[in-house]
Amino acid sequence: MQVTDELIQSVVREVLSHMRNGSAKPSNGQARRWGVFDDVDSAVAAAAEAQQQFEARGLEDRRKAVDCIRRICIGQAEPLGRAELDETKIGRLDHKIEKLIVAGQKIPGVEFLRTDACTGENGITLTEYAPFGVIGVVTPVTHSLPTLAGNAINMLAAGNALVCNPHPSGARIACRGTQLFNQAIHEAIGINNLLTIIGTPTLESAQAIFDHRQVRLLCVTGGPAVGRAALRSPKRAIVAGPGNPPVVVDETADLETAARSIVQGAAYDNNLLCIGEKEVFAVAAIFDELMEAMGRYKAVRLDKGQIEALTQAAFVTGEQKKLVVNKDLIGQDAAVLAERAGIKVPADTQILFGETEEGHPFVDQEQMMPFVPFVRVPDVDTAIALAKKSEHGFKHTSIIHSRNIETITRMGRAMDTTLFIQNGPSMAGLGSGGEGYLSFSIATPTGEGVTTPLTFTRQRRSSTVGSMRVL
Ligand code: NAD
Repeated sequence: MQVTDELIQSVVREVLSHMRNGSAKPSNGQARRWGVFDDVDSAVAAAAEAQQQFEARGLEDRRKAVDCIRRICIGQAEPLGRAELDETKIGRLDHKIEKLIVAGQKIPGVEFLRTDACTGENGITLTEYAPFGVIGVVTPVTHSLPTLAGNAINMLAAGNALVCNPHPSGARIACRGTQLFNQAIHEAIGINNLLTIIGTPTLESAQAIFDHRQVRLLCVTGGPAVGRAALRSPKRAIVAGPGNPPVVVDETADLETAARSIVQGAAYDNNLLCIGEKEVFAVAAIFDELMEAMGRYKAVRLDKGQIEALTQAAFVTGEQKKLVVNKDLIGQDAAVLAERAGIKVPADTQILFGETEEGHPFVDQEQMMPFVPFVRVPDVDTAIALAKKSEHGFKHTSIIHSRNIETITRMGRAMDTTLFIQNGPSMAGLGSGGEGYLSFSIATPTGEGVTTPLTFTRQRRSSTVGSMRVL
């Protein structure tokens, strides 16, 4: 090996880092580098030590740490997005890259923290938002690094550290991101291991995080099984659970906007987004016109036989003879699905779509692939009732295209979803083309909504009696 200045500096940095962060010693065979660990105890110990150092620092260091994550997400979006796609093999490169850029730009940080005050003749009371400590995090394969980065921006802004059990099929990119973030943060503020991650995650390592005494709060993002597992833990869990977002289109809708929006939302990362348009209920009066409009936005219509062929490929029989989505087709390109439907379509086709009955598996299941079923209904009240049924009470996301404010209000009330978007694509609900900020963890069953730094804080009150009101 050639001994260069750079190598010497890197070894010195590494040794100093291990001296400062004694729990991550390479000599015990349990630590890899820069936050990647083989076992939960070592990862939590390192994160806890880092968090103690971090808590003693001011808001400016939190801002610097968060800025490191933002900078890497934006500056290295292309290679990191490509690496995520290479590893997970689901979704689209353009959107993998874009998700990292918007994570860096739009996920709220330190600026979201505030102090609430109330004053009167008895003095002043402050409510401050304090860190929890170490937070246990589970991330999905659909957005491995964006979810980790987004959680980390929120959690570090609030003064926490985190230990992550990534999805095994997206673990490599999550570990790479963790290392890059930790290196940059260490360079900026001298603390390593504010993010820690299990290099080879399993269900057992997730459970060990859920059970760990030093983990104070959980934040899990994924399907029903992980939500249930986290909620069985005695500690508080923030659960960003599954969705199956329905779209209602009534006779007053702007059909061009509706078609364009449905294509945009359902095509995004090949319909992997939990908020993405998964099924459409359109009233008979405009149904055919809407189907025609879809064709103007690079969506290709399948006929009955082609839908049947795709259905055979897209669903398999799972446990207890229930139909489940075939993992091989999740997040694949529309052109790949088209082959399974028995046709060839241009490579730049955004989505496939077609007419189905309301009881079709593509309506009932969260398919996470770019085929969208359209159900013809006699009137908007039937559409709303079927939308509610297909959402399965997840209370996640629903969408309507209508210019009738009474209909919009009626659907909003009936659906009771965390996100309700009118006259735009689903991502407008997360600040992309609509107002507001972004998170890749929308806490649905546990009710925290679009997570922010404040989601990961404890409220603390300080009361001064008889003074400090200066009015
Ligand atoms: P998944 O449920 O298969 O896996 C999610 C994570 O949970 C993975 O890390 C997995 O290893 C872990 N996991 C699964 N079962 C577990 C158990 N019993 N104990 C501990 N850990 C367990 O989901 P996925 O395919 O990675 O992601 C897609 C799902 O996530 C969809 O249902 C989607 O709607 C949902 N999602 C929700 C949000 C949101 O913000 N609400 C965001 C992204 C994805």
